Amino acid sequence: MIYADNAATTKMSPAAINIMVSMMNEVYGNPSSLYSTGQRAKEALEQARAQVAAAIGAQPDEIYFTSGGSEADNQAIYTAAALGKKAGKMHIVSSAFEHHAVLHTLKRLEKEGFRVTLVDVHEDGLVRPDEVEAAIQPDTCLVTIMYANNEIGTIQPVRAIGEICRSRGVLFHTDAVQALGHIPVNVKTDNIDMLSASAHKFHGPKGVGFLYAKKGVRLQNLIEGGAQERGKRAGTENVAGIAAMAAALSEAVARLPENAARVRLLRDRLIEGLKKIPHCALNGDAAKRLPGNVSFCFEGIEGEALLLMLDDLGVEASSGSACTSGSLDPSHVLLAIGRVHDVAHGSLRLSLGEETTEKDVDEIISAVTQVVERLRSFSPVWRDLCAGKRQFIL
Ligand SMILES: *Cc1c(COP(=O)(O)O)cnc(C)c1O
Repeated sequence: MIYADNAATTKMSPAAINIMVSMMNEVYGNPSSLYSTGQRAKEALEQARAQVAAAIGAQPDEIYFTSGGSEADNQAIYTAAALGKKAGKMHIVSSAFEHHAVLHTLKRLEKEGFRVTLVDVHEDGLVRPDEVEAAIQPDTCLVTIMYANNEIGTIQPVRAIGEICRSRGVLFHTDAVQALGHIPVNVKTDNIDMLSASAHKFHGPKGVGFLYAKKGVRLQNLIEGGAQERGKRAGTENVAGIAAMAAALSEAVARLPENAARVRLLRDRLIEGLKKIPHCALNGDAAKRLPGNVSFCFEGIEGEALLLMLDDLGVEASSGSACTSGSLDPSHVLLAIGRVHDVAHGSLRLSLGEETTEKDVDEIISAVTQVVERLRSFSPVWRDLCAGKRQFIL
């Protein structure tokens, strides 16, 4: 099997697995306990916090461990909303192609009286800083724009957006789940007030992540009950998972320049190979994208059928995000960049990782080419396109 769905989740690194197992075996205490077994766990927790902070240019007391990226997104947005409400600021700026952990949270806030402006995502898969600035109103309490998109991999102009927010006195949150460990991220130079991350997207375990909140941002609790995480996130800490996350992140950041350069070459080889298929298009800017992300639309086919047939040929990929597969609606991300429904249905996301080889890429190219041709050969839509009864879009 060729695993090409690293944007959905990654395989844990051996270093992360080792530390997780040894923590479970040896450091099983509750970090809140005062005796030495508990204090050992507490020390491991604080060491992980320092490691995570160092990886993003933050201070340890600016890191709050969570159950993952979704929780961190929720907590960041509810925090900004609570602070905004107190100050009579009920407006939020975001974009149309955010992760559902952001979009669904914003929907809920709209029911509570907040107004949300979603800035346009252009055809290249990028938001424009000047459009973010124009969307900011006197009562805007938050701008939340993702660092890199999970479906099409485009890397947003976060630094410029952060600078605008800083100068306008608006909190800036970014969902950096896809970016962290894959491209350089620094909360200070990127002007970020809050950032969400998830361990399983950078070879750590599932069910653990963190929220960075700049000193002075008073977090709102999602979970009440105990004094853990300085009173901002109750519940006995997932010590083994957190230690494994820190190990995975340190490793990913240390190896980033080398890994990113290698994966980028594979990505571009894959893009070049797939481009030769007639009537297809790369989704999003070719250069401003994550090192491992390849996202295409093929006209005249169904993405779901493509995935099943690729699986038969030993290639594991995704049509968009794991969260939306299984639903028949086309991806909100592809619609946001202007793909029409018919074209958006024929989407394929291949997300490569550090383990991908050149041979894998060549096999993927051959498998996709073969499957697209087969699917088109029995597609009535394709027949109509070829007969001129419908117009090609791509
Ligand atoms: C995976 C992902 C999330 C959700 O993270 P979980 O840890 O799975 O909750 C949020 N945002 C983006 C961009 C993601 O890719």
